[in-house]
Amino acid sequence: MFMEKILISACLLGAPVRYDGASKPFDHPLIQKWKNQGRLVPFCPEVAGGLPTPRPPAEIFRATAEDFSLSRAKVLTRKTEVTQAFVRGARAALDLALAREIQLALLKEKSPSCGSSFVYDGSFSGRRVPGMGITTALLREYKIHVFSENQIEDLCFLLK
Ligand code: SF4
Repeated sequence: MFMEKILISACLLGAPVRYDGASKPFDHPLIQKWKNQGRLVPFCPEVAGGLPTPRPPAEIFRATAEDFSLSRAKVLTRKTEVTQAFVRGARAALDLALAREIQLALLKEKSPSCGSSFVYDGSFSGRRVPGMGITTALLREYKIHVFSENQIEDLCFLLK
């Protein structure tokens, strides 16, 4: 029987892959249910893109939704540009999703890779703006539905 899989940010499942070396476990009954069903495919684009853990925090330069374009987006730490690693990670996430025929993703909000409704604005001041991360943008180009952990019920509604 076909069981639809869900790509999920590895940090939401407790993997210590965030920039600060921590995880962000998301405790929700649906997560436990999907885990038990074997639906979840954990992935961290930034680690897959070759970045170390821990790593310096990064933000998308001028991340506002109006300014955003995947081909022009720049990802910067306070000291250097890391766009290539973010794009490599996004491509790896897309390759995995296509190979496993994954149409749905639950990704961590506000991340410069995984954010889907909000990201930090590139000023390292903690200011959030409507926008999305590099991986989310690429997945959406390929019509993969990306939800944040705050929208888990919406994702559940689409699940076959
Ligand atoms: Fe989590 Fe995504 Fe950041 Fe990796 S890139 S730590 S999966 S939010």
